[in-house]
Amino acid sequence: MQEIIKYQQIDSQLRKVEGELYSSANRKSAFQMQQYLKDGQARLIKLEEVAKTLNEQYQKATKLYNEFIEKLDELSKKVEADRGEKTDELEKTISAFNQTADNLENNIAILGQKIVNANKEFESIMNNAKKAKHNLEIYKANYNKEREKLEPEINRLKEEKNKQKPKVDPKLLAKYNAKYEGKIFPVFVPETKGRCGGCRMEIPAGKLSELKAKGTIECENCGRIIYIAE
Ligand SMILES: [Zn+2]
Repeated sequence: MQEIIKYQQIDSQLRKVEGELYSSANRKSAFQMQQYLKDGQARLIKLEEVAKTLNEQYQKATKLYNEFIEKLDELSKKVEADRGEKTDELEKTISAFNQTADNLENNIAILGQKIVNANKEFESIMNNAKKAKHNLEIYKANYNKEREKLEPEINRLKEEKNKQKPKVDPKLLAKYNAKYEGKIFPVFVPETKGRCGGCRMEIPAGKLSELKAKGTIECENCGRIIYIAE
């Protein structure tokens, strides 16, 4: 029993150091920067598609507009040439066509503005990405320094853990590992004043005598293994 407790103690220290590294602000910031860059990348891809569509629409609209204006010009000249009886009607038609031309022009201007905006957003994302990349490098470098500082301690504890391992009863170790993988820690807790040393729940009388007979029981509440502290 004592050997597994010692093993657990080493693990506890190891978890503490690893946890320190895991919760490093630099590490978190580096992750955030990476996520930011990823999101920016996705937005750029979408923006490229949007810009492509807008450009196509712009080209098409401009072409249509030019064709329309050309025909309108022809028509106007024709009306001027044969100032006949239907002039009024034709002039009305031309006026309506001019209105259409204005509308087309407006739509083209709106498309043009959308293209400008898309380009602006593109540029802004690129600029921010540049800054984010720079920050990412700094966070990474800082985190690496932290890791380099803690790594010897982590390795030392891992080595100590490996040395302790063969001393532990394999059955207990198997139990420990199974619980550990189920995210329970500490796995082994002492019985304290008739309570589970993990979750503090009172151990029922029947279970308590089982504990005394067998040396260990599993807590019905938190799943930890309760042992009798010597
Ligand atoms: Zn418990």
